[in-house]
Amino acid sequence: MARDPRTDLIHHPYQPPAGFHAPQVAVHKASTVIFGDVAAMRARDWRHKTGYTYGLHGTPTTFTLEARIAALEGAEHCALVPSGLAAIALVNQALLAQGDELLLPANVYGPSRELARNELARWGIAHRFYDPMAPAALPALLGPKTRLIWLEAPGSVTMEFPDLPELARIAHAHGVTTALDNTWGAGLAFNGFELGADIVMQALTKFPSGGGDVLMGSVCTRNAALHERIHLTHMRTGQGVAANDAELVLRSLATVALRYAAQDTTGRTLAQWLQARPEVVQVLHPALEGSPGHEHWKAHCTQAAGLFSVLFDGRFSAAQVDAFVDGLKLFKIGFSWAGPVSLVVPYDMKQLRPGQAWPGHLVRFSTGFEAVADLQADLAQAMALAFGA
Ligand SMILES: *Cc1c(COP(=O)(O)O)cnc(C)c1O
Repeated sequence: MARDPRTDLIHHPYQPPAGFHAPQVAVHKASTVIFGDVAAMRARDWRHKTGYTYGLHGTPTTFTLEARIAALEGAEHCALVPSGLAAIALVNQALLAQGDELLLPANVYGPSRELARNELARWGIAHRFYDPMAPAALPALLGPKTRLIWLEAPGSVTMEFPDLPELARIAHAHGVTTALDNTWGAGLAFNGFELGADIVMQALTKFPSGGGDVLMGSVCTRNAALHERIHLTHMRTGQGVAANDAELVLRSLATVALRYAAQDTTGRTLAQWLQARPEVVQVLHPALEGSPGHEHWKAHCTQAAGLFSVLFDGRFSAAQVDAFVDGLKLFKIGFSWAGPVSLVVPYDMKQLRPGQAWPGHLVRFSTGFEAVADLQADLAQAMALAFGA
């Protein structure tokens, strides 16, 4: 009896194409992965990348992206998650248990602090903050329950570049694992493992995507045992990324170094120009002389992300600084960075770093791909508008 065409639409003979050689990675989508027989199904192994078992456990597309991100970071292993923040959460969840303590830099990425204050605290995991620019004060904060220390270079918003090798050395001397948020460096400005990180996470949302249109995160290690812990938690908590998102990151990854360098050039040009302006007290950019931790940046990097913060003179009111930001036409107000559009965010430092005095109002800029002269003209017109000539 001839089969019903509806059945044939589903069971039509299909072989993944052998002999079709294009450099672009195919987009493989699956929840189900079919086993040849019962024995193969029973022998399935999702702990190691020996084969494919289920869409959530990886496809040729996600395995390829993992391998390339590991290559970018100089790592051996990589796990992909749906956002940069999910990568931070995965590291915490994989490594910490009730009663453990974790250390966060005082200038840590804000949502990482909120995760510690809320979920981790609720699960009986305590956290403390350390001054990343004062490694000598770190040993006093490391107790018998300290399991993990987060590193960030430079710190979010205030851009201090710490002495990573020294922080890592102290942590390791106390048997504490180090995890680096490498979103700023993107695996390009420096190698996180060589500066002492055991785990390197990155918001692929930023530079590797570069389009402002994908959310994704990665957790990389060089250590098989550490990766196994991360991988098991990753699998057991149902983390995974969509093939179409992986495709976008794979496409962009080929140009990540070019984009990073271009945004760096634009960022430094604008940062230097702003530093000479009378409205500005200080520009916080690790590649600029006088910026906190510049010497540590200089010791390990030649490149920087197109990201910097500006402290506008305290003689201007917060309303004037808001008016400056509102007056910008090319710089758009929004979070995330490394996409095509230049962005700006004013921060309330009293809220962000309570107990610390700042000499002015902080505005954070990130550079996109616009022409630098147009961006500079935009800054100039908005300053004239808000602060007067
Ligand atoms: C953006 C960012 C993250 C989080 O990335 P998402 O993909 O937006 O969750 C983490 N760390 C740093 C330093 C970031 O800038």
